Amino acid sequence: YKILMRSYVDQPSVTADGASVELASNIGGIDDLEKVLSNGADAIGLFRTEFLYMGRASFPSEEEQYSVYKHVLEKMNGKRVVIRTLDIGGDKELSYLQLPKEMNPFLGLRAIRLCLDREDLFRTQLRALLRASVHGKLAIMFPMIAVLNELKEAKRILAEERTRLEQEGIAVSDQLEVGIMVEIPAAALAADILAKEVDFFSIGTNDLIQYTMAADRMNESVAYLYQPHHPSILRLVQLVIQAAERHGKWAGMCGEMAGDSAAIPLLLGLGLHEFSMSASSILPARELVSRLSKQEWSGLAEKALGMSTQQEVLDFVNQQLRSEA
Ligand code: PEP
Ligand code: MG
Repeated sequence: YKILMRSYVDQPSVTADGASVELASNIGGIDDLEKVLSNGADAIGLFRTEFLYMGRASFPSEEEQYSVYKHVLEKMNGKRVVIRTLDIGGDKELSYLQLPKEMNPFLGLRAIRLCLDREDLFRTQLRALLRASVHGKLAIMFPMIAVLNELKEAKRILAEERTRLEQEGIAVSDQLEVGIMVEIPAAALAADILAKEVDFFSIGTNDLIQYTMAADRMNESVAYLYQPHHPSILRLVQLVIQAAERHGKWAGMCGEMAGDSAAIPLLLGLGLHEFSMSASSILPARELVSRLSKQEWSGLAEKALGMSTQQEVLDFVNQQLRSEA
C-alpha cells in the first residue's frame, strides 16, 4: 500500500476523465515543509501564521516574519503559497496581547476583525508579506470575512502598504493574489457579492460548520451537529464554488473536510479546484482522485444536495465508491 502511494508523488493531480485539480497542504510553520515536499503537494493552501505569534513573549517583527515567508516561498519553488493573515482570538490567545474578555469569543473580536481593530499589527504583517512576494508565488488570504466592507478595508490597507514600499524602492510582485476564507455563513450566502473583489475563495469548513450549525467545534456535547456531509453544508459549498466560477475566480477548501475521502468525490463533483489538507493526506487523495470521474460525480453531488440527512449522503457516497472499485 505504501509503495503504491509513493508512486503518486510525482504524478499530476488529475481525475479519471482528465480534469486537473490542485492538492495542496496546510502548514503551521517552516518545520512542516519537509513533509509537504516529500508528499508531493501541488501547493500550500493554508499557512496558519498565528503559530509565528504563539509561544513567545512579544510580536514577531516585520524582519522576522519576512524571513519566514521568504523561506517558505523559496522552498516551494514557484508553487503557490497561500498565507493567511493573523487569525488570533476565539480559542487562540497571545500572552502579550491583552484582549477584552468576551461572552462568546468565537463570535467576537478575532481574525480580520482584530486586525482591522489593531491596524499596527496588521500593517507589519502585510509589509512582511509584500516584501516576500518577489520570492515565489504568493497568495494572501484574509480569515473570517463576513461582509464586503471588511474585505475592502483589508485591501485598502494592503494597497497603502504596497504603495509605501514601492516609494521606498522595495520591489513587490505584481502576480500577488488576494483572497478570503469563506468560513462564515454570511460570506458563503453572499459569495457572489464578494467574488468581484477577490482572486480566490478558500472554504474554511472547520469554522463554517460550527457557525452554520451553531455548534462549538470543541464542545463534545454538541459534536453530533458537526456534520460536514450535511446537505446544508454542501449547499453552502456549492454557492461559493458557483460564485467563483461565474466571476472567473478559483475556489478551494482548507478545512479538514478537504482531505476527507468521503467528501472529496462530492467536492470534486461540485467543481472545487483546490483541496488543502494535512501533508499525509495528499497521496491518498491523489490516488482517489485518479479513480474518480468529475463528470459523473457532478451528477451524483447534485443528488446528494437534495438528500435529507448526513447519513443518507454518506451511505450514498460510500456505496458509489464501492461500486466503482
Ligand atoms: C477553518 O476554519 O476551516 C480553517 C481552516 O481555519 P482554522 O481551522 O485555523 O480555524
Ligand atoms: Mg477558521
